[in-house]
Amino acid sequence: QAKAAGRNTLCFYDPLMQAAVHRRAALELDMRIGLEQGQFELFYQPQVDRGRIVGCEALLRWHHPQDGFISPAAFIPLAEETGQILPLGDWVLRTACEQLARWAQDPVFAHLSLAVNVSPHQFHQPGFADQTLATLAGTGADASRLELELTEGLLLRDIEDTIRKMMLLKGHGVGFSLDDFGTGYSSLAYLKRLPLDQLKIDQSFVRDVLTDPNDAAIARTIVALGISLGLRVIAEGVETEAQRAFLERHHCHAWQGYLLSRPLPVAEFEALVRGWATPTRGAKA
Ligand code: C2E
Ligand code: MG
Ligand code: MG
Ligand code: MG
Repeated sequence: QAKAAGRNTLCFYDPLMQAAVHRRAALELDMRIGLEQGQFELFYQPQVDRGRIVGCEALLRWHHPQDGFISPAAFIPLAEETGQILPLGDWVLRTACEQLARWAQDPVFAHLSLAVNVSPHQFHQPGFADQTLATLAGTGADASRLELELTEGLLLRDIEDTIRKMMLLKGHGVGFSLDDFGTGYSSLAYLKRLPLDQLKIDQSFVRDVLTDPNDAAIARTIVALGISLGLRVIAEGVETEAQRAFLERHHCHAWQGYLLSRPLPVAEFEALVRGWATPTRGAKA
């Protein structure tokens, strides 16, 4: 900015901007330290299909020593920009695969699938597919229980490379979901070419599905589109029984949301699944 303005222009020191740069640098360093010191944790949110918990989504949590709990929405974008997402994403994938391998040992959890969010920078690394396969092999996790959640933004870059990587992983059993579907820029032509297994209806459409006719139309259309392309459709952000019933009425396959549970630490998640696995459960379908 200052350079572009030229030599003869006065350049004002902007304390606000300076503070922002400072905060970013501090956050970046904190992230690196946090990863070394084990401040990150995966929480798990259950996913329901016909009244059964069939899987879960791993959601990253950061317990920052000074600032307390920091939401991924606040640090993932910065991690993406700085490249810190690469070690962080590796950690997430490894931790998720270790969890899958542990669950495989217990009949109560062995059927669960586990969805992991993958960011664009991480996915577009040349070694992403091989590294994922190495992590699966190294942890002993069953590839067919792992689902990777991609966002539409990721598909804008090099579609051929994206398809190649997806096909390679799919060949080993890994599944793919398109997260936040309907909020991005993916064209239907892309959608047809991608070897996806599932669409996730974004929570922004689910929120007012009962009161906003446009959102209702969008949700119904996504389900119909998914079904006609042979994809499973899951809704996220389901908070009320009425939303769940609407989605079920329109043949949406599965859902996740606060109606059943927030993302939980692993022990609480396991307790929830145990409770649902026993026939005396009191919860709704
Ligand atoms: P996402 O993958 O679309 O995840 C859904 C978000 O909605 C999560 O927010 C989840 O906690 C929240 N949510 C779930 N059910 C409900 C509900 O009923 N109502 C409402 N209002 N919200 C609900 P969270 O955990 O804060 O994560 C935000 C975003 O951060 C995620 O959106 C994902 O894009 C990103 N993220 C989280 N973990 C990871 C990760 O391990 N790697 C990467 N690359 N991104 C991650
Ligand atoms: Mg997700
Ligand atoms: Mg989403
Ligand atoms: Mg999202």
